[in-house]
Amino acid sequence: MTAPTATRYRCTACGNLTRFDVTTTRRTKAFHHFTVGGELQVEDEEVLEERVEAVECRWCGSGAHVVEAEASA
Ligand SMILES: [Zn+2]
Repeated sequence: MTAPTATRYRCTACGNLTRFDVTTTRRTKAFHHFTVGGELQVEDEEVLEERVEAVECRWCGSGAHVVEAEASA
């Protein structure tokens, strides 16, 4: 499974860099591998489409001042 996109965010109102509620629509394709007993193991999940719908600052409870920040290693 691929890691989620590493977009970083910043709230310009309070300076928050680490806590956000992110609402995402994701379309995926995955290999559902069942055991004979019916137990499911999801393998090889592939993200076909991903759309971030909303990013809200966890502290302000609003997305009004959230901007995308450059990822810094
Ligand atoms: Zn904030």
